[in-house]
Amino acid sequence: MTVRTRFAPSPTGFLHVGGARTALFNWLYARQNGGKFILRIEDTDEKRNTAEAHQVIYDGLAWLGLDWDEGPDTGGPFGPYRQSERSAIYEKHLAVLDAGGHLYEDGGAIRFRSPRRPVVVEDIVCGRIEFDMSNPATHPDMTIRRPDGSWIFHFVNVVDDIEMQLTHVIRGEDHLSNTPKHIEIYRALGAEPPQFAHIPLILNSEGKKLSKRDGGSSITYFLDLGYTPEAVANYLCLLGWSPGENREILAMDEIRPIFDLTGINRRNAIFDLDKCFWVNGQHLLSMSADRFEELARPFVDRAGIAYGTPEALRPALAIVKPKVKHLCDVPGWIGFLFTEDYPFDPEAVAKSLAKPGAADRLAALGAALAGLDDWKHAAIEAKLKETAAALGVKAGELVHPARVAVSGRSVGPGLYEMFEVLGKARTLARFDRGRELSA
Ligand code: GLU
Repeated sequence: MTVRTRFAPSPTGFLHVGGARTALFNWLYARQNGGKFILRIEDTDEKRNTAEAHQVIYDGLAWLGLDWDEGPDTGGPFGPYRQSERSAIYEKHLAVLDAGGHLYEDGGAIRFRSPRRPVVVEDIVCGRIEFDMSNPATHPDMTIRRPDGSWIFHFVNVVDDIEMQLTHVIRGEDHLSNTPKHIEIYRALGAEPPQFAHIPLILNSEGKKLSKRDGGSSITYFLDLGYTPEAVANYLCLLGWSPGENREILAMDEIRPIFDLTGINRRNAIFDLDKCFWVNGQHLLSMSADRFEELARPFVDRAGIAYGTPEALRPALAIVKPKVKHLCDVPGWIGFLFTEDYPFDPEAVAKSLAKPGAADRLAALGAALAGLDDWKHAAIEAKLKETAAALGVKAGELVHPARVAVSGRSVGPGLYEMFEVLGKARTLARFDRGRELSA
């Protein structure tokens, strides 16, 4: 039987990292088993059902690289994939339950009569759990349709999982207590329940359920700051699962074959934004220049930096790559390379260019570099050191004013790399400009 998994979010306007991790685990399981991954939007709660709220989900999943085989817009053999468009299907199953004597009316609502028999859940992660359904006070008969005709989650969720032929339901542990109710509906509809895997919750550093207010709880946070999607996906995998052997930094291609549903930890996972930040840094460092360019360019374009051609942008990106922690910082790191109108940080000027003798040292360095034909960073560095020795000063006495002269700042990419990217003429012209700012 082909494995079929699904992600079934409600459009809340927000893709929670817990939801994203659920999607990721479903996707991994489908992909490693040659199965199908289905996206279904559970939008029976009309209040929050906006096109924007749907888009947040599509964008978040696409950004993480989680492609779905069937879903809204994509289509598929069991559509439509938005619950709000499936009412006719629910009516049909409601009639089946009704014919079986499972329903009764209560104040305009329709309720499902629990058979009041124990239900055993064999959960891939949580193991075997027996639920005693005998007490109506703790397990009241569930409402499946409201008096206004709208559908309740439990019923439509089960109908869709049956109709869409899902083999595995992998979802947050907050749904574990719903599962016996769901199994009662499966049985009443004469359907075999799928395999369940309830994955542990994600808690914040205080041990509370990660909420909207916690930093980094939304995928949009990572998108906006310019985290790398492969790093966030990598980190999400570590929330409840471990590749073993103390490995932490992995590409999705490495995770896919070794991910193991049965290896998911039963303990709740703690969300650690610092750790995620670190994972992101590791991915940035090992990333290819091409991938970095692909991820950074939209940020540079949005900032309106006039770099001209991709060929001109590439060397600038190469020299800032080791420094960048968030891709949203890239425009700030490279902007000065593409305009002669770059701002000067007054504090950086005061500490270097404005010091006595700085203008003369800069002039001497400029004169020495003017004679250099091999405008590569190693040769530039050698020439600077030679000049410092000739002047009887430490290299730093040249490096600092030169850095502020060409970039306006005291921090940035490597000095010689910066010179190389700017080219000789622009570097030396910037020295002249720096000297004008000197005391
Ligand atoms: N719409 C439900 C949720 O977002 C789906 C639960 C499930 O995966 O079955 O929690």
